[in-house]
Amino acid sequence: ILTVEQAVEWMKVTQQKVSANKDLLTELDQAIGDGDHGINLDRGFREVVAKIDDVTYDSVADVLKSVAMTLMAKVGGASGPLYGTAFLKMATTMQGKEVDEVVFKEAVNKAVEGIKQRGKAAFGEKTLVDVWEQVANFLKEEPVEDWGALPEVCQATMEDTREMMATKGRASYLKERSKGHVDPGSMSSYYIFEALAEVRK
Ligand code: ADP
Ligand code: MG
Ligand code: MG
Repeated sequence: ILTVEQAVEWMKVTQQKVSANKDLLTELDQAIGDGDHGINLDRGFREVVAKIDDVTYDSVADVLKSVAMTLMAKVGGASGPLYGTAFLKMATTMQGKEVDEVVFKEAVNKAVEGIKQRGKAAFGEKTLVDVWEQVANFLKEEPVEDWGALPEVCQATMEDTREMMATKGRASYLKERSKGHVDPGSMSSYYIFEALAEVRK
């Protein structure tokens, strides 16, 4: 289901979406955080693309491991280690395997476990965990009939974060005032999965 070429393309399309929406991500983070989410991720995914364009990979696991290391090193903030963990967990789960649908689902499940553990966050706390866990739920339907539906599912979950009160991360300092704004990390996660659906077409 995911070839090495598709994995590389996934990251390139993600980078394009993040860069194109850098200001939007930053505005969202200005509303409920410190205003660096777009900057952090734009820098991070540009580094990712520069890195993976330079290397020939034998496996999807190796691509995603490289992605994880780069995000951890270059993004910073809360989201750097969280996205780093997500991609590292996927890479570890995929190690030595062809990435068919079963392996991919398992990899996403492990990623969700990893970010929840790392961020000490659960579903419904207005963080990127919301979108990742929703993706894991979407993938539970087997076999996945329509990958094209994935972006809509993520977008709806991202929208759901708007009226939530944040209890994790910087937005939690605002308590009730965190309501009324979409969580920036949920939006960047939406771009990641929108990109995945596009390369899977
Ligand atoms: P920082 O908050 O350090 O400036 P970013 O702005 O890059 O980092 O990322 C903020 C995003 O990270 C939030 O929108 C949220 O989705 C996610 N996040 C923050 N803290 C946590 C946490 N403890 N668990 C899960 N996700 C979190
Ligand atoms: Mg921030
Ligand atoms: Mg910050």
